[in-house]
Amino acid sequence: KLGWTLHFLTDESPIWQRSMMVVIVIAIITSVLLTIALFLRSERIRIALQASQADSRQLRATNAKLAREIEERRMAEQRLERARSELARASKLAALGQLSAPVTHELGQPIAAMRNYLAAAEFDDDPNGRRDRLNRLNGLVTRIESIFNQLKFFAKPGFSGSTDERLDEIDLRDVWTGAQELLDVDIQNAGIELTLTQPNRPVLVRGNHLRLEQVLINLVRNAIAAMDSTNHRAIHIGIDIKGGRALLSVADSGQGLGDYSLEQLQEPFLTTRASGEGMGLGLAISTEIIKEHDGRLTAQSQPEGGALFAMDLPLAEQKEAA
Ligand code: ADP
Repeated sequence: KLGWTLHFLTDESPIWQRSMMVVIVIAIITSVLLTIALFLRSERIRIALQASQADSRQLRATNAKLAREIEERRMAEQRLERARSELARASKLAALGQLSAPVTHELGQPIAAMRNYLAAAEFDDDPNGRRDRLNRLNGLVTRIESIFNQLKFFAKPGFSGSTDERLDEIDLRDVWTGAQELLDVDIQNAGIELTLTQPNRPVLVRGNHLRLEQVLINLVRNAIAAMDSTNHRAIHIGIDIKGGRALLSVADSGQGLGDYSLEQLQEPFLTTRASGEGMGLGLAISTEIIKEHDGRLTAQSQPEGGALFAMDLPLAEQKEAA
């Protein structure tokens, strides 16, 4: 009311002191927090480093183990390779042994007979006897030739799969016509009644005509041989299409397969026929040819007697589609 201004002056130093105290405390707390954070971080880094060192130790150990295993495997492979080549050599020798026995047996007989005829020819001046001997020698040469022809099949590069022969579209009915021309004389001489059923449209398969004809001739020749000692001699040839496959069968009224299974009869050199009459290669060869054509061969004894050999092959159109 009197218009006075009152100034109250006081000392500032306690305020400065308090402010300084606050700043110092904040600085201490901040640096303690920073130290804790840094410590925690370095702890984390240490633990991570330890873990990664442990990992790399483990990796190094695994690497060493892997290297050992690779080395062991390399040695095992070398041992396997050695064993394989020894086995290949041994099985080649075994195959050679298996092959030489029947071949030397089959070839030995006609060769010995030829030697006898030739020895006898030296002392024989009779022209009739000479002619007779020449005929016999001719027969023996033909036999040797037929043995060679059978063996030649196995020496072909196409044998066992990789055939590079031409595959044509062929009618199974023509295959039979071709085979029949070669078999007719034998069939008539043996007094065999021959019947045929076939569709009146082509039965087309993709294959090699001569090879399939060879199979059919083998099967029919076997049928003729199987009826040697039977009174009723009949062969039935069946050609058909069923389930998308071409069928070709040869049924006879012979002795049947007896106790033999087809697998046994397919074994090379297995024959029940007398020496000189069969080498046991016909079915082995036929099976290979049918396999080359993606076909199947089956055989069974028939209830009414005789054997039935049947093969089925993919039809040409199906093979092309495949
Ligand atoms: P091979 O005719 O030279 O003996 P194959 O391999 O053609 O050789 O035949 C093997 C064997 O299979 C014959 O010896 C015979 O015992 C048997 N076999 C083949 N076809 C017939 C058949 N149609 N009937 C009875 N047995 C057969």
